[in-house]
Amino acid sequence: MIKKLIGRVLSGKIFQARGARHARPIPFKTHGVARDQISTCALSVTDTLQAKGFAAFVVGGAVRDLLLKREPKDFDVATNATPEDVRALFRRSRIIGRRFQIVHVMCGRETVEVSTFRAGHDSEDARDGNDNGRSDEHGRILRDNVFGNQQQDAARRDLTINALFYDPATQDIHDYYGGVADLRGKRLRMIGDPAQRYREDPVRMLRVVRFAAALDFEIDPPTRKPILELADLLSHVPPARLFDEMLKLLLSGHAVETVKRLRKEGLHHGLLPLLDVILEQPLGERFVMLALRNTDTRIRGEKGVSPAFLFATLLWHEVLAAWKATEAGGLPAIPALFKAMDQVMQMQAEKLAIPRRYGSDMKDIWAMQPRFEQRAGRRPYRLLDLPRFRAGYDFLLLRCESGELDAEIGAWWTRFQDAPAAERERMLVPDSAPKKRRRRRRPRAGGDTAERSPENAADGV
Ligand code: ATP
Ligand code: MG
Repeated sequence: MIKKLIGRVLSGKIFQARGARHARPIPFKTHGVARDQISTCALSVTDTLQAKGFAAFVVGGAVRDLLLKREPKDFDVATNATPEDVRALFRRSRIIGRRFQIVHVMCGRETVEVSTFRAGHDSEDARDGNDNGRSDEHGRILRDNVFGNQQQDAARRDLTINALFYDPATQDIHDYYGGVADLRGKRLRMIGDPAQRYREDPVRMLRVVRFAAALDFEIDPPTRKPILELADLLSHVPPARLFDEMLKLLLSGHAVETVKRLRKEGLHHGLLPLLDVILEQPLGERFVMLALRNTDTRIRGEKGVSPAFLFATLLWHEVLAAWKATEAGGLPAIPALFKAMDQVMQMQAEKLAIPRRYGSDMKDIWAMQPRFEQRAGRRPYRLLDLPRFRAGYDFLLLRCESGELDAEIGAWWTRFQDAPAAERERMLVPDSAPKKRRRRRRPRAGGDTAERSPENAADGV
């Protein structure tokens, strides 16, 4: 084993992983990214590590974004120091990680993610077919926390444009895979054999599509081609990880382009159940696209968006369909709605892995909807007082805009919210229904939501 390893080192095999060239550093005068464009926290991390004799670079998305003259979301650092070394150097830091250990270093409100150079799956063991149980039967990598050198760390990254290393001390960029040229050519190229890289981690297929849309880049044909054939592999990825990636995609500020790109790439069937929901509903399409556009605008305007609101929009037409079916089965409107909501949530919890914590907000938004149509008596006031009124109202406006609901209802609520008290009273629609005497019902055991009356439902929201 050792002999073999020495032989490989001598023949230079280990250091030529995935066709890397020797990276001649690209100087500042060629690329133009200056040290002062790096965040204070990332600079303090690389400076401290380098002062202790370690190698340390800003890597990944931040270098890519700076070269594209975009503002990086966050800064990641790669180093040859181990997680324990890093932890020992920074007081406000902690080691985290399941698949592999990384260190979060905190300065003020900023967090920098520091990872130790790692060898990917293509390291010598894997090339000898000695997998040691590191991947599943589809080739998906389960463990890849093997430390490596800088070049191996470049090789295990996904796209050439994401494998650039920036040294803030010298302002040089180390580029093993032609990432800078690909950035200039607006090209997405997977490092190594794309099919093999997708098998190792199918989430890379979603990343490729997300970057293509967000950056408006072309996908290099060999990188693009295997995606359709291998899309099924996404079903083996743990739902929580898929959900995270989906959230990144929907909250990227480019959700509309991404959805269009998925269609163009022919990836809108079977890639992800949530995408099927978005892309394959003839009835809800207008509504869903409006919701995505609205989310994009908010994100680009740096306004917050709530994932629960977004998921409520994506599934609304499913709720409407289930509601109609349940009502046709003989249930009164409101209990039918509650039953439909439960059905949709249950189905989607399994399929889409929407975390439970979003469930109650989503239901609140849906449950409010019929109440916007009741504009008599004290009811509008009670609705206005609900903590989530604003989300429900925004949702209502989308329904109006999509043509599902009469625009007049939305306009009424817009006026009602801000009108002075006397004006509000004038706006109320006369209550035509004969007043019923309220009978006190004995409380039921079990408290099934489907049995709740609209008034009770209101109080629960
Ligand atoms: P974003 O702007 O969305 O943060 P990013 O490229 O920084 O984009 P991260 O998820 O923050 O994405 O990952 C940081 C870096 O880690 C990437 O640039 C890439 O080099 C590497 N990376 C992330 N996910 C993968 C993956 N699935 N396979 C290989 N390398 C990956
Ligand atoms: Mg990042």
